[in-house]
Amino acid sequence: MFESLSERLGGVFDRLTKQGALSADDVKTALREVRVALLEADVSLPVARQFIKAVEGKATGAAVTKSVTPGQQVVKIVHDELIEMLRGEGEADALKIDNPPAALLMVGLQGSGKTTTTAKLAKRLKDRNGKRVLMASLDIYRPAAMEQLAILGTQIGVDTLPIVKGESAVQIAKRAKQQATLGGYDVYMLDTAGRLHIDEVLMGEVQQVRDAVAPRETLLVVDGLTGQVAVDVAQEFEDKVGISGVVLTRMDGDGRGGAALSMRAVTGKPIRFVGLGEKMDALETFEAERIAGRILG
Ligand code: GDP
Repeated sequence: MFESLSERLGGVFDRLTKQGALSADDVKTALREVRVALLEADVSLPVARQFIKAVEGKATGAAVTKSVTPGQQVVKIVHDELIEMLRGEGEADALKIDNPPAALLMVGLQGSGKTTTTAKLAKRLKDRNGKRVLMASLDIYRPAAMEQLAILGTQIGVDTLPIVKGESAVQIAKRAKQQATLGGYDVYMLDTAGRLHIDEVLMGEVQQVRDAVAPRETLLVVDGLTGQVAVDVAQEFEDKVGISGVVLTRMDGDGRGGAALSMRAVTGKPIRFVGLGEKMDALETFEAERIAGRILG
């Protein structure tokens, strides 16, 4: 499969004699390999360039300690920089669900794993944080999606808002808010409708819902395997709706997770969670170290 960055750089530096510090030429040679590794890991080209620039300054002239090879030294500098770029806020800050009931708006394209993630997160809030959670599907276009959320709700022991035919997404959102207030829930999660592609109708609807409930958090769910598409989707949602964080799904797959870096660099929003499978407990807090290790291979 992929050659790890350490292996690549080991090869490059074998040819170089040991010097006390990394010369500008050594660094340039090494960073060419880093660039290939980033692109192979699905990091977008502009972000890879930006990253390389940041590392170049730090690596040139860096002292090479006796215990490591120049290759290892560059890997360490690259690794530290990756973590710095990837790091968002921790979980404690991730979901601000004080002052109940707090609305949590889940947005994203169809098939990104939005409904699954809504249920996973609801379960987590219930089990780990002891919150009373109400979930509601706003997908008026796909009755099956509404039913799917209800089924997941039953499975994980989280209430869902009863389905009423003929309501608009905003009407459902308002009913969820009312129900959450009357029923003493801490959080109500709104699983918005997804589309295959971003369109004006979808964005207009999400904006209306946002304005109706003033969500505490707006989480964008994106498929971590889709690389540049995921980044474009994130940018679009950030511009049109405003997001507070990102959930990257399908990180259990073969992808190297480069989308995480691009996403962070382009939107500036923290990645809060990663989806690691179809099961209801396959959701983890995002950890920069893990993804950095994965990107570097
Ligand atoms: P939605 O259309 O965005 O609501 O997507 P769904 O939640 O229905 O998910 C689509 C498919 O992706 C389902 O089969 C899910 O089980 C699957 N899925 C969701 N999240 C993950 C994940 O993190 N890893 C894997 N392997 N599958 C996932």
